[in-house]
Amino acid sequence: MAQPAAHLMHAYARQPVHFEHGQDARLWDSNGREYLDAIAGVAVTNLGHSHPEIAAVIADQATRLMHTSNLFGIAWQERLGERLCELAGMERAFFCNSGAEANETALKLARLHAQSRQIKHPAVIVMDNSFHGRTLATLAASGNPAVHRGFEPLMPGFVRAPFNQIDAVRELAAHNLDIVAVLVEAVQGEGGVHVASTEYLQQLRALCDEYGWLLMMDEVQTGMGRTGTWFGYQHADVLPDVMTVAKGLGNGFPIGACLARGRAAELFVPGNHGSTFGGNPLACRVGCAVLHIIEREQLPQRAGVQGQKLLAGLRRSLADHPAVAAIRGHGLMLGIELTAPCGELVTRALLDEALLISVTRERTIRLLPALIINDGQVAQIVERVSRLVHSWHAARESKRSLAHAG
Ligand SMILES: *Cc1c(COP(=O)(O)O)cnc(C)c1O
Repeated sequence: MAQPAAHLMHAYARQPVHFEHGQDARLWDSNGREYLDAIAGVAVTNLGHSHPEIAAVIADQATRLMHTSNLFGIAWQERLGERLCELAGMERAFFCNSGAEANETALKLARLHAQSRQIKHPAVIVMDNSFHGRTLATLAASGNPAVHRGFEPLMPGFVRAPFNQIDAVRELAAHNLDIVAVLVEAVQGEGGVHVASTEYLQQLRALCDEYGWLLMMDEVQTGMGRTGTWFGYQHADVLPDVMTVAKGLGNGFPIGACLARGRAAELFVPGNHGSTFGGNPLACRVGCAVLHIIEREQLPQRAGVQGQKLLAGLRRSLADHPAVAAIRGHGLMLGIELTAPCGELVTRALLDEALLISVTRERTIRLLPALIINDGQVAQIVERVSRLVHSWHAARESKRSLAHAG
């Protein structure tokens, strides 16, 4: 086992650890060491690892029926579609297997919307620093040059605006008659944890109404309770025309969905979109169980409460620290922006603090713990992250003074 990953493509910079089992917000590696998980598989295992009810549902459904294809009716898919639409204020769902696929579906709806309005070269407004996935369409939609690099020519049909600046969107509206939709996140996750303001989302809604555009919300990371409401746009009391979910919907079982209402919900006809695995009985039954547990345990509310505690704790111990530029977030989606690139903190956290964190946009520590974390775990995250930032800063300072002296 000199090179255990010799046969895996180099798409990821992996940490030097293999986890073997998990429970709630805790993980154990192959040496039996216990870790505290503050990223939940990147906003996926919101109910905690190895949730017993989810495990039981998977086992039971696997013995009954896993897959038949969308050539036939699928009762669990109908049920999940109905429940999701109820919660999201939408009318119809299309099921797929990931966030990128859900966004591809939304972008295809935007193209069909354009066609229905006789717009030949449609454009979708997307935001700087956005992230929508790694397929060719969704990477082109993403506002991050690092995601684009090497994959040019990018798919055409996107125009970009700075996030949270409604005037820039108004400016585009005034000059570009080909715009058909806006795609936006309620909180930019990969983009460094930036929260869309309530006014911004409401003004986007108003512009979409004025110009006949589709308002499309990417709720892949923010959805399923993470920000303190079922979906991020509910904080702003707006309703999109199209929205996408994935990550937390299956608690680790792959599933994604694109939901729509109004005209947008009627655009697909048999033959113009599809997915072999999408919406199979197993995935959809898991989705139903996840919704049931989120509802029963009032997890959106809990994410709001625990998120406030985590934010307050981080601010108490880090707000005045010279290496901290900002601490921000919504619910259990939090970012601590440092004054310099700090990617090495992911490894330091793992090895020194037995803590899983992520770093986005080079200098923002991102925390996305399971929505079920308890007060003790919140306090532990604060304590361990604070210690990390302090020692990271101290090491930089002593290096700097050494360089100065030498
Ligand atoms: C993770 C993410 C995606 C992509 O989801 P995949 O399941 O990895 O394809 C899209 N949009 C947002 C906002 C995300 O956080």
